[in-house]
Amino acid sequence: QIDHFYRDSWVEINLDDVEYNIKQLAEHIGEDKGIYAVVKANAYGHGYVQIAQAALNAGASALAVAFLDEALHLRQAGIQAAILVMGATRPEDAAIAADHDITLTFYRKDWLEAVRTQQLAKTLRLHMKLDTGMGRIGFRTSEEIRSVVSLLEDPSLHLEGVFTHFATADEADLAYFEGQRSKLDALLKTLREVWNDPITIHTDNSAASMRFAAEESDYVRFGIGMYGLYPSKIVKEEHPISLRQAFSLHSRIVHVKQLEAHEAVSYGATYETDGPEWIGTLPIGYADGWIRKMQGFEVLVDGKRMPIVGRVCMDQCMIKLDQAYPVGTEVVLIGTQQGVCISMDEAADWVETINYEVPCLIGARMPRVYK
Ligand code: PLP
Repeated sequence: QIDHFYRDSWVEINLDDVEYNIKQLAEHIGEDKGIYAVVKANAYGHGYVQIAQAALNAGASALAVAFLDEALHLRQAGIQAAILVMGATRPEDAAIAADHDITLTFYRKDWLEAVRTQQLAKTLRLHMKLDTGMGRIGFRTSEEIRSVVSLLEDPSLHLEGVFTHFATADEADLAYFEGQRSKLDALLKTLREVWNDPITIHTDNSAASMRFAAEESDYVRFGIGMYGLYPSKIVKEEHPISLRQAFSLHSRIVHVKQLEAHEAVSYGATYETDGPEWIGTLPIGYADGWIRKMQGFEVLVDGKRMPIVGRVCMDQCMIKLDQAYPVGTEVVLIGTQQGVCISMDEAADWVETINYEVPCLIGARMPRVYK
């Protein structure tokens, strides 16, 4: 987190909204299920530590990240909650995870063999990943599960959980999703046959946790919904729970000028004025994740939409104003100004991507302010 910053562009994160979103989900799924707050990728661009703390305050039971580095960052910030690394970790790094009480995911027999050779000083907590159709990482067959269980009978290893990830839980057609659920049932049946100790199960991402109650699950893994965004248009329309978008992006006009007719703006001189036009400059560019595809999209000035004209530069971009505004005028790029809203979904649609990607792209150079 940057405490002081000396540029006129910043992200605001409303932590009350994050807490609200978690509480909405908790109420929806019921008390017998816990929540893993998914805070990988700098909490989808919202800030690891602040989001982790807000999520835990609001009742999340544990945290989930993609990589060990992310889990260590949270530990170094003093977070003591359980943390699961959902992605790949090198076997030689297992001792670091065990030392910091970080749970790792495994999905290969040779990984377990390699970890066992290390004689870990502390017990390593493990979750088994099942690939029921995502095609990414995970054991795919009952035979694979049977072939690894003996390796788990090692005093330094503790099989704590098992999980899978759905590829289409946010779609209208649920045939593939149902197929994944039946594969999961079969694989869990095998696991229960060969492993008697209790294991926690977690299967549902935001879409699945908001739309369907998976009875066998002890936890859900709540990512995008925690940030107040729906995983897809379908889920947004269904509106299973109410969410509040926590992220907004702000800037201030740093220069204003009037151009004559037929003058150009930015690299390539691709934008030409029709007549006299007021042009404002904003100190934000593609190096901040405000990518070149944002050209032509709109921003809010004085509660009105104004277009981004000319190519977006690395650190700056230009907007066409309806009149002269003073330097220092606040501009909202994502969020609400005077009751007018440019949502994350609208920004994502403009650059032909999903809402997940937009805040993830807003880079480390951009200050985050927490409300
Ligand atoms: N679980 C796993 C394994 C993931 O990779 C992700 C995110 O990509 C999530 C859960 C959270 O998904 P969502 O943000 O859709 O809730």
